[in-house]
Amino acid sequence: MARRRGSSGDSAAGLAGAPRAEQVLAEAEAALGVGSPECDLIGVFVFDARPQIVAVSTAIFYWLGWTGDALRPTPPRDFVHPDDLVAASESLAGALEYPGYPGYLAPVDLRVRAPGGRWVPVEVRAERSIDGGDPRLFVFSLRDASDRSRTDALVTDQNQVLEMVARSQPVERTLHRIARLVEDHAERAGACCIMIAADGVLAPGAAPSLGSELTAALGSVIIGPAAAACGTAAHRGQAVVCPDIAVDPLWLGRREPALGAGYLACWSTPALDYRRGTTVGTVDFYATEAGLPTPQQARLLELAASLVVAVLERRRADAMLVYQATHDPLTELPNRTLLDDRLGQALLAGRGAPATVAVIFFDLDNFKSVNDAFGHAEGDGLLVEVARRFESTLRPGDTVARFGGDEFVVLCHNINRPSQAAQVARRAQAALADPIAIAKTPVVVTASAGIRVADKPGLTVDDMLRDADTAMYRAKAQGRGGVEIFDETHHAAALARHALETDLRLAVDAHDITVHFQPIVSLRDRSIVGLEALARWEHPDHGLLYPGSFIGVAEDLGVIGRLGASILGQVCRWRSEADAPPEVVTWVNVSAAQLADWSFIETLTATLRTHGIPPRSMGVEITESILMDDRPGWADMLRRLADTGVRIGIDDFGTGYSSLAYLRRFPIHVLKIDRSFVQDLPNPTGRAIISAVTAMADAMTLECSAEGVERDDQIAELVSLGCGQAQGYLLGEPAAPAALPKL
Ligand code: C2E
Ligand code: CA
Ligand code: CA
Repeated sequence: MARRRGSSGDSAAGLAGAPRAEQVLAEAEAALGVGSPECDLIGVFVFDARPQIVAVSTAIFYWLGWTGDALRPTPPRDFVHPDDLVAASESLAGALEYPGYPGYLAPVDLRVRAPGGRWVPVEVRAERSIDGGDPRLFVFSLRDASDRSRTDALVTDQNQVLEMVARSQPVERTLHRIARLVEDHAERAGACCIMIAADGVLAPGAAPSLGSELTAALGSVIIGPAAAACGTAAHRGQAVVCPDIAVDPLWLGRREPALGAGYLACWSTPALDYRRGTTVGTVDFYATEAGLPTPQQARLLELAASLVVAVLERRRADAMLVYQATHDPLTELPNRTLLDDRLGQALLAGRGAPATVAVIFFDLDNFKSVNDAFGHAEGDGLLVEVARRFESTLRPGDTVARFGGDEFVVLCHNINRPSQAAQVARRAQAALADPIAIAKTPVVVTASAGIRVADKPGLTVDDMLRDADTAMYRAKAQGRGGVEIFDETHHAAALARHALETDLRLAVDAHDITVHFQPIVSLRDRSIVGLEALARWEHPDHGLLYPGSFIGVAEDLGVIGRLGASILGQVCRWRSEADAPPEVVTWVNVSAAQLADWSFIETLTATLRTHGIPPRSMGVEITESILMDDRPGWADMLRRLADTGVRIGIDDFGTGYSSLAYLRRFPIHVLKIDRSFVQDLPNPTGRAIISAVTAMADAMTLECSAEGVERDDQIAELVSLGCGQAQGYLLGEPAAPAALPKL
């Protein structure tokens, strides 16, 4: 761009062959009031459609500082900053495309070339297009944007800081960035120092260019009425300006280091967290010249102070989130996430050697019944108290975490022998000994504990927790409040159990679990009066499995109901296919877990109906302990079972100490004398018990049936004691239906 003579209003032709452009320019200047005090335009310029600049207000030349020749037609790329060319040509294209409405086009910010390689920020706006001539001309106006670009730069910097806050960048880095922002925009030589308050003391949080000596001297400024600029500002909650450190009484103790570093003035602005009503720090500017801040400088420090508040607020919120993510809200103990983390670090600390850590897995033994009896709120209260007691037994550095539900895990350090961990476990268990008041009722809870010691390198967090859990289950199986230490055989057992569980689920659904029948014989005439169905599982790998190895597992897995239904179906089908006489009763064993599911009775009656079996030909063996269970509705359920017409036998009778009074309440047909008493024959104790049972059965007109008869002398004894029926290997082993004698 080259200079042309004249100013707005007297635009003479400076561009050869473009008098029309000059005329358009003059008209536009007049219309827009260029040069008048109310007009904030520097000037206007005229484009043709090539596009080239064909006329420019003289004022623009002066303003940019150009001197020189007349204007030649100039393409935009000659005077627009390369980075702004796209924006410029888009604006121009818009003007070309919508010639009638250039005023609707948004102004663009550009940098234009000035002498000496300077780029000057301007705002350019399309004003009008002049049709009906050749070439078509477009008028653009130009405003000074340098002020705005300064604020824009500040806004950009401020946004950068806010983005760092939003991204939770490290606090030190963000504060550093804020200090730089102050220094960049202060328009004054000096350094910014951001002080952070904690416990009544300020300490430098960022001071990128203050110098190490002064920074050290500001290491801890006690907030007070006369403590340099920052301590005083924080104390007052107001900006404190020390225009001349050399004479300012606030600087009594720190004058030397400040002056020594070359700072003569200090302006401190407190970072006030209005929501909390606290001062979280100060933003201080140390100027190398004495003096007061301008209003803009004061505003800059206030802006920086508000950014510091945002940074620290974010840190607090982040810390809160981290706390929430790593702690159990109920007990406020570390949660599983934090435990995993700490355990992982402890295991890594072993560096190839076994780490000296152990985990103890606790599971409350009777929490469910507390919850059921008192409700969840009281159950929660119990958990909180248990957590508190566990915590009170911890050694320094150890962690107790709530793992979920009523499970707690203790992470112990410095464990060299399993017995040390066992000691910790015992101590924690002992802390539960005193009753806990639940709804004014004293309740004693116990916890079973499983221990896994990191006794070999390479153990993972999951290994440790899984093994401690396995050990805990073993402890539980041995009764309440026990402690078990994991060893590899447990692991093998756990794996085997897991495999068995998987197989069992499949086997139940595939009806791979079948029945064998054992005859029940009348001791009067040796006729078969019944058959007991006993579950058998032909396992592809382990061969024939007996119920002792899978009934309990089926109960734990919750598939016992389906297994029982399958067995009922098989027994009924066999009965009808074998055309078994109705007086021969087929007995099935039913566990408490099966009876607890009320659909059992419906399944039973439906199966009988399907196969056309009279209910009195079917018997259900339940264990004695079921009779003594005083769960609400339980007696009712037994009565409904009897109402179906099936027979009820009490299995393993004599082991559960039920009284006559109990038996009377239920419609029972047979007492099955437990094998242990039969084995005890001919000892006087076995005899005494069996005669007591037969007497009781007589009194109630029940049938008595002895189990586990293996020898002839037992039969003679049983007959003499008045027992009417028996089963056992001597009389007939359990056999597959196909192998049964014809009835
Ligand atoms: P139970 O009801 O007491 O069954 C009698 C057990 O004694 C059977 O063991 C049987 O094989 C065994 N036995 C029979 N005669 C003799 C003998 O002369 N001497 C000795 N030492 N034992 C004899 P099995 O089949 O292993 O069953 C064990 C237990 O599993 C049963 O004890 C029963 O409580 C349970 N059970 C069996 N089948 C089922 C079923 O389908 N469902 C449920 N819930 N439990 C079942
Ligand atoms: Ca039985
Ligand atoms: Ca039995």
